[in-house]
Amino acid sequence: MTGSMLVSNPSAEIAKHTHLVAKLASGRELRFIDPRMFGRLSVHSAAFDPGGVEPLEVSEENFVKLFRGRKTPIKSALLNQKLVRGVGNIYADESLFRAGIRPRRRASSITRQELARLYHSVREVLREAIALGGSSVSDYVDADGEEGFFQLEHRVYGREGEPCRTCKTAVRRVVLAGRSSHYCPRCQK
Ligand SMILES: [Zn+2]
Repeated sequence: MTGSMLVSNPSAEIAKHTHLVAKLASGRELRFIDPRMFGRLSVHSAAFDPGGVEPLEVSEENFVKLFRGRKTPIKSALLNQKLVRGVGNIYADESLFRAGIRPRRRASSITRQELARLYHSVREVLREAIALGGSSVSDYVDADGEEGFFQLEHRVYGREGEPCRTCKTAVRRVVLAGRSSHYCPRCQK
């Protein structure tokens, strides 16, 4: 290569044979200097893949596969946006309650049948969220994984010590990876 790629301050003089100046997010410039004009430039739109499946689009089979062999608690796996998108702390607790699964259980210990229930409960919770005024699942969770505006009637989330709406047992709270997790010790196994 006879040319060069330089990162420069915008105030720096533009060298002779500079064929490209690209503004970088940092405010600096990427400059391509190519005196012999052997270089080529092509622009591609990169398909940005944030990773993770959309729970409302994924099949039950593929959802179940996500958790196979994972030693992390099921709640942590649900919150992992690289696995599943759009499930924040509240949705995870509410989905696990509806599926009858305790948040601390190892993902790999959860049966196929329980995962099928979880698949349906996650979708149910998200659909309720959408019905309450959202437009897409990804609107619901901010960068910290916290839900914004959606207020469904919580069955367990934020109800520590209050009676479970199904069996009247006091709802418990545990801290998992720094996040509050709420569950009913009777309804969830
Ligand atoms: Zn209960």
